[in-house]
Amino acid sequence: MFCKNCGAQLNENAAFCVTCGAAAGQGAGYCHNCGNAVAPGAAVCLKCGAALNSAVPNAAAGVNGAAKSKIAAGLLGIFLGAFGVHNFYLGYTGKAVAQLLISVLSCFTLAIVSEIWGLVEGILILTGSANYTTDAKGVPLQQ
Ligand SMILES: [Zn+2]
Ligand SMILES: [Zn+2]
Repeated sequence: MFCKNCGAQLNENAAFCVTCGAAAGQGAGYCHNCGNAVAPGAAVCLKCGAALNSAVPNAAAGVNGAAKSKIAAGLLGIFLGAFGVHNFYLGYTGKAVAQLLISVLSCFTLAIVSEIWGLVEGILILTGSANYTTDAKGVPLQQ
């Protein structure tokens, strides 16, 4: 069996994933049978055909706390935008790494660029601007 949260291979009797810490069976990003990445909410694994029991990803996300907080994301952008923390939080890893690298590789001489970028994004997230209402998986942000 594989971790449904990160795709790592698990011992059959494992209660939780040693890679990401998720409880076995929690998560919707990977097939429990073959470890293949699957679309959140997919009914079956396209690689091995195993049935996936995550029919309503958005509702489920709200129940198990997977939906990200708009307030948290906005504040992370405003205060830690220079490190791309808000984008790591929301799953926009590419953008997050770009912001982090601009700061780190310039020995923070260009951190103001990332900080302003993050600050603007933080405000857009908090105000619910059109392109900033979901995380990278398309799960709507909680109020
Ligand atoms: Zn895992
Ligand atoms: Zn599979």
